[in-house]
Order: sequence, then structure tokens, then C-alpha cells
Amino acid sequence: MRVTLLGTSCPIADPRRYGPAALVEAGPESWLVDCGSGVTQRLLGHGSNGARVTGLLLTHLHSDHTVDFIQLLISGWHQGRAAPLRVYGPKRSKSFFGALLKAWQPEFRQRTAHELRPPDGLGVEIVEIDGSWRLETPHVTIRNTEVRHQPIPQAFGFRFDADGGSAVISGDTTYSPELIALAQGCDLLVHEAFVHWAQAARVAASGRDPAGATNVQAYHTTTEQVGRVAAEAGAKHLALTHFVPPRFDRVRVVADVRQHYRGPLSIGEDLMSFEVADGATSLVRGGVEGHL
Ligand SMILES: [Zn+2]
Ligand SMILES: [Zn+2]
Repeated sequence: MRVTLLGTSCPIADPRRYGPAALVEAGPESWLVDCGSGVTQRLLGHGSNGARVTGLLLTHLHSDHTVDFIQLLISGWHQGRAAPLRVYGPKRSKSFFGALLKAWQPEFRQRTAHELRPPDGLGVEIVEIDGSWRLETPHVTIRNTEVRHQPIPQAFGFRFDADGGSAVISGDTTYSPELIALAQGCDLLVHEAFVHWAQAARVAASGRDPAGATNVQAYHTTTEQVGRVAAEAGAKHLALTHFVPPRFDRVRVVADVRQHYRGPLSIGEDLMSFEVADGATSLVRGGVEGHL
């Protein structure tokens, strides 16, 4: 199974880190987790495209994780997708995407009529899932848990088991025992990281109310906490993603994580790619910044 970090930032735009998204490839299947800003460009950069996505899994409905949904749909159609896009998301996904699709329907109708092309590839099938969802395909078993991202009403972490390996993607969460349980003994844990000292400096420089930053930190996982999560899960490799903010001192982040976790650690970058198989994780491609 191949796990690729497509976008490793957050709502803060950065030319080197795009919005949150990851791709899990098992055999011929490609499972996209979230569709943050720039996801379609990163899919191409990885050598794939939106038409090859087997299904889209949404950790939650925050804008940074969903904002390129229409772009994914339209560009995937242009790339040759002939069947509806299958989406698995939390409750309210049907009404949320239903409203979006309704707004775009006049254009979709115009495009299909004007370009004389079948509309099926512009279709969407939405499945609302709960926190005990499980899907077994011939190539991968996917399951999830609810994680702690309140006040967002429902957020998920996902686990993939394939090729004798296991990978977990945290989604957005603060320290979550449920996520630690899901990730027990996993070969690769891809976890969000809130770089609290870098964000505090940003907020101070902007003159914003620091209480707002405290609120944001409360539903994310600090760089110290994420080491604790990886240690308690017994994760064999930890890759950090969803950096808030996207620019930070890498050495200091490593020192934070090392307070609790001594295992292999990757500071994630866009397009960084891991092979997870037979109980081991290996880095098969560094990211756009070129660090390993
Ligand atoms: Zn987010
Ligand atoms: Zn979020």
C-alpha cells in the first residue's frame, strides 16, 4: 500500500504546502482522504488524477478539507471519469454537498449539453457514515473512529489495512484516546500537528486576540502531544501533516515530538510518499521541499 501526503497545510495558504489531502493506494484502488486546496494539482504531481480516485473519504466538513470538491469533480470528469464520484463523509454531508451541487447544476447541465458529453461522471454518490464504519474491498480494509475536534460535531480518523501493513490518518483532532485505540500497532501514523509556539508568534505579530489562538489549539494536537499519541499507539513510524502554521523551525518540532516518541519520524511535505507493507514503512519519495 502506498500512502502519499498530497497537501500538508491548513486554511493558511502557502506556496509549498497545499490544503489537507492524502492518497492511499492499494492494488488498483485509490482512496483520497479530504480534498483541500490544490488537491487536483497534487494528484497530477503524484502521477495520478481525479478520474482514478476510487472514493473520497472526508474526515470532517471544515472548509480546508473540502474546498476543492467541485474542482475535483469537474477536473476528474475532464480526466475521463465516467461514473459518479463516491463520497463517504460525516452526517450532514448530503445536505452540505447537495447545496453545493445544486448551485453548480446549471453549469453542469450547460457543459454536458454544450460539450455533447455524458453527465454520469459529474454525478456524486454520498454515503453518510458513523464512527464505527468499515469497508472491505478485495484490496484494503478501511475503518474509522470518531476523533475529538469539537465544536465540530463529527470528525473521523481512518485506518487502512492492506498488503500486510497498516496506516492511520488522524484527520483534525486534539489528543484523542479513540484515535490511539484505532492506531494501535500501526505501521504508519499520519497525524496532524499544531505548532503552538510558531502559531502564537504569528498571532502576536498580527495583533489578534491570543484567546482565539488558544481556542484553535484546543481542537488540534500540539507537537508535544503528537509524540505522546504515537508512543501510546505504538506506531512504528510517525509522519506529521496539517501543520498550523505551515512555516516553522523543523528542528524544534522534532525536539517536541522526541519528548515522547523515539521511533522513525517524518516531517511531512506535499507529495512525500511511503510504502507500507509486510509490517514495515519505507519512504519512497521525499516531498516538494526535498527534505527526508
Ligand atoms: Zn483542518
Ligand atoms: Zn478541522
